[in-house]
Amino acid sequence: MILEPAPRVDFNDTATAFSGRTDKALKWEYQLFRMMNHPVLTNVLTTMASLSIKMHLPVKWLIKKTVYEQFCGGETLEETKKVLAELEKFGISAIIDYGVEGKESEAEFERTKNELIHILQFAAGKKNIPFISCKVTGLTSFALLEKLNTGSALSAAEQTEKEALYTRMFAIAQAAADNGVGLFVDAEESWIQDAIDNLTFELMRTFNKQKAVVYSTPQMYRHDRLAFCQRSLADAQSHGYILGLKPVRGAYMDKERKRATELGYTDPIQPNKAATDRDYNLAIQLCLDNMHNVAVCAATHNEDSSMQLATTMQERGIPANHPHFWFSQLYGMSDQITYNLAKGGFNVAKYLPYGPVKDVIPYLIRRAQENKSVSGQMSRELSLIHKEIKRRGL
Ligand SMILES: Cc1cc2nc3c(=O)[nH]c(=O)nc-3n(C[C@H](O)[C@H](O)[C@H](O)COP(=O)(O)OP(=O)(O)OC[C@H]3O[C@@H](n4cnc5c(N)ncnc54)[C@H](O)[C@@H]3O)c2cc1C
Repeated sequence: MILEPAPRVDFNDTATAFSGRTDKALKWEYQLFRMMNHPVLTNVLTTMASLSIKMHLPVKWLIKKTVYEQFCGGETLEETKKVLAELEKFGISAIIDYGVEGKESEAEFERTKNELIHILQFAAGKKNIPFISCKVTGLTSFALLEKLNTGSALSAAEQTEKEALYTRMFAIAQAAADNGVGLFVDAEESWIQDAIDNLTFELMRTFNKQKAVVYSTPQMYRHDRLAFCQRSLADAQSHGYILGLKPVRGAYMDKERKRATELGYTDPIQPNKAATDRDYNLAIQLCLDNMHNVAVCAATHNEDSSMQLATTMQERGIPANHPHFWFSQLYGMSDQITYNLAKGGFNVAKYLPYGPVKDVIPYLIRRAQENKSVSGQMSRELSLIHKEIKRRGL
């Protein structure tokens, strides 16, 4: 592989960001984000969408033609090929995510494991699918993870359930290693996260000896995660493996705060956004300073954090396509970061979920809520599209 020196990038370049869109596609996207920009409308529509799906009303086509196509790759793995090919034209990779959530039976957990192994086989040898992601809650019950998190003794049935989870996760990580694809273990609620982290450490100690196969996810909106990143690095150094880290800010803030208040324990979330941003950037800095022991994927839509990583790589003479540095944004969002990084030769991937429409509704609702207007302002996506529409004179 030829390693390219990191160049300067410009996230204000909307011409590059939207170079894959025709005028018609751009106008359609503008209408879609304009609709999501209305907080009341978004709340009503998301509630109606979940209810309609539960009541088996024929709204699938409507969801599929709107938010689904904006944020998902297709209903099946086969269907994602079109999006994958389109991204590849611009030098953009994909992190495939089987977007099905909220399953609760052993048979469903087995099906999810088999599907994840199937994706890893599909990704084998494809340079544009360097990673897949998985949620541990798709592979065991939430109740078991909560129990594991408390550290209290397990019943015989729970012990069997735990062994089944470990067997599934080791089989998935083995398939990842065998097929030369990385495995991101997503972060979830704090009251199950220790259970997820303990499992992820075991996987990294086993599979990351030569290179980072398994990546853990610190949520930097938690005030204890910078210390966690430092402990993770120490664990990698003492056990002789490459630490895989995918720092995120965190997606469950309101839920975390509400539970902490209701149950009367200390809020695990940072006091404010500035503290989250500071720790996010310090976590990236830690990875840069220990780049021979850590492989990092900066999973963020934050321009400052992405720019900090790109600029420091450039200042330190780290090649743009160094295998220890990746950037990632969700499919359908923040193309000004993704496309401009790709143009500069950086390793960048879209997080691309797929699955039946009814199963990805929770994911779509999170995306719609994220794109609502805050204090009457245009959402970040909407203002970017608006800027490009004006630039094209449409
Ligand atoms: C590729 C990818 C993978 C992801 N995987 C996961 C995952 O595994 N688990 C997960 O939880 N999330 C995940 N996320 C979502 C992520 O956690 C964020 O919710 C989302 O990316 C928005 O944060 P941002 O870094 O893009 O930046 P910004 O838009 O700059 O930051 C918004 C974030 O800042 C934090 N924040 C906002 N207000 C405050 C406040 N008052 N006090 C403290 N913190 C505040 C919140 O985390 C909020 O989401 C992923 C995102 C991407 C792009």
